[in-house]
Amino acid sequence: MPEQMQQIALASRPNAAPTAENFRLESQPMPDPGKGEVLVKVHYISLDPYMRGRMGDNKSYVAPIPVDGKMEGGGVGEVIASNSAQFEPGDFVMGMLGWATHAVLPAATLMKLDPAHGPITTALGVLGMPGFTGWHGLMEYGRPKKGETLVVAAATGPVGSMVGQLAKSLGLRAVGIAGGPDKCALAVDTFGFDACVDHRAFDTASDLRKALAAHCPDGVDIYFENVGGKVLEAVFPLLNNHARIPICGMISWYNAGGMGANAPAAGLTVPALWSAALTKFMSINGFIISNHWDRLPTFLAEVGPKVAKGDIAYLEDITDGLENAPAAFIGLLEGKNKGKQLVKIA
Ligand code: NDP
Repeated sequence: MPEQMQQIALASRPNAAPTAENFRLESQPMPDPGKGEVLVKVHYISLDPYMRGRMGDNKSYVAPIPVDGKMEGGGVGEVIASNSAQFEPGDFVMGMLGWATHAVLPAATLMKLDPAHGPITTALGVLGMPGFTGWHGLMEYGRPKKGETLVVAAATGPVGSMVGQLAKSLGLRAVGIAGGPDKCALAVDTFGFDACVDHRAFDTASDLRKALAAHCPDGVDIYFENVGGKVLEAVFPLLNNHARIPICGMISWYNAGGMGANAPAAGLTVPALWSAALTKFMSINGFIISNHWDRLPTFLAEVGPKVAKGDIAYLEDITDGLENAPAAFIGLLEGKNKGKQLVKIA
């Protein structure tokens, strides 16, 4: 057992887009598990857009990471020492391991993984928090119906690709929005979207709207909100009566202040938004997936077999080495990732 472990700490809070200076790689003495705790050797960590919010000190649904504190986040790894009857060395687990090579956690906060059921990385993506988010948001708040049209941006990411594939399997027309021609090709060829529009190819929301409208001849019934900004402005006027908008995320505003509280307003004004919501009888539902863990077993029972059979595709973008996690995270916020962004540690 090594005497030291490595972790990435939040060195300072970013004012806009994070930079390498906001992170610090540091060594710590290897922690010992206390009563009811286990020591985990981290194999992969998950990088997720929500971490940008936690680097700031805006009031939100969860407390910020303290400056000099370990960057938090989900990960999968192997138990190497256990003071709990729940786990023994050699078990694979998923939990909030953080950006680190090792982590000590209460056994009760960890979920056991069976590597025989598929690659352990899937517990962080297609069958983990992001895939679950796409499923729950679509089924619960999107209320999809055969023949309808759905639009989702960040279409090749783990949330958007789940939403698009489920929509297709339920007989909807699924139109993706993604950054660049390569990602648009992936959306159609790998994830089965009917069409995909490259948001980076249009400077204005109205030009993006024209391109989108050509692929949505019957308007849009479900706009699964992942990004806000120009995309929201483009889609909003295309929404039909009784449209549903599950508000999942708004990544285009994260660098402008937490969840967008201090972000520059999009061209869409509050009166325009409110009156359309009224006169088009829209349902707009924000949700945070951590309030819905009780539905995870239903999701796994329903979607797990489809992933195992290859009926639901997934893509992983794996960066090597803990020291490269900050650059990979900065890249994720810029759209450089192709699929679920992971970092291989062990
Ligand atoms: P992704 O892996 O898809 O990565 C984020 C993607 O967002 C980028 O690859 C990029 O894709 C896109 N993006 C970044 N900036 C912009 C921009 N300015 N305009 C348009 N698109 C942009 O992320 P996830 O699938 O993990 O997450 C998708 C969304 O879901 C995020 O907003 C996230 O915060 C949210 N989320 C919410 C949860 C909840 O509980 N409510 C839980 C999990 C995720 P591209 O290059 O294609 O544009």
